[in-house]
Formats: sequence, structure tokens, C-alpha cells
Amino acid sequence: MSDCIFCKIVKGEIPATILFENDKVVAFKDINPEAPSHLLIIPKKHIASMVHATEEDIREIIPEIFKVIQHLAEEFGMTQEGYRIVNNCGKLGGQTVGHLHFHLLGGRQMLWPPG
Ligand code: C5P
Repeated sequence: MSDCIFCKIVKGEIPATILFENDKVVAFKDINPEAPSHLLIIPKKHIASMVHATEEDIREIIPEIFKVIQHLAEEFGMTQEGYRIVNNCGKLGGQTVGHLHFHLLGGRQMLWPPG
């Protein structure tokens, strides 16, 4: 999608601190971190949200995203003390960028329930 900010990050048209990239997935540092480690893991393909993910996306791309999450949690030293994975979906979910993304947050005590 030409006006999607995360598609622009995928294409290198706007800057981001890229941490990982393969043919399906890109991970980068959140520009406005809510925790000492706050990473975003996204599909290269434009999928607006989990609502829009096809069965094929769920079979082929989402597992790749979770492999990258596991790898980055290890790389960023989050596995000893734990971490949180968040997907905000749609208006009530608090999604602000309309390109599917998973937040990986670590390095501080998370709270529950979320706001
Ligand atoms: O889940 P939600 O849609 O609210 O999250 C979007 C996230 O994308 C925010 O945490 C925001 O800081 C991040 N962002 C970013 N780089 C941009 C635009 C947004 O890391 N250029």
C-alpha cells in the first residue's frame, strides 16, 4: 500500500532501526518505546490487521513472525525475566497503524489488566 507507513519502512523509504529482515518479515525498534526493549515485528506483505489475515497468511506468515519474536527475545536478553507480545487490532484494540504488527516488550514489569 503506497500510503502505509510500515510498507514504507519495508521498502526503505522512511528510516527505522531494522533489527531483522527475511523474505516475509521485518523487525525494527519502536520509534516511541514503552519499555526498555520495544520492538515491532511485521509482515512485509501489507495485511491491515489480524481481521484481514487470510488462512494462508495465518499458515505462512504468522508462524514466521513468531519465530522472529522468539529469536529477538533471546537476542535482546528477555528470556530470563520474561516479556510481553501485543497485537492491537482495530479501533477497540487500540491499533493506530493499519499494517499488522506485533509489539515485543521487555525490560520492565508489565501490568495487567492493560489500559
Ligand atoms: O499497536 P499500534 O498500532 O498502536 O502501534 C503502532 C506503533 O508503531 C506505535 O508503538 C508507534 O510508536 C510505532 N511507530 C514506529 N515508527 C513509525 C510509526 C509508528 O515505530 N514510523
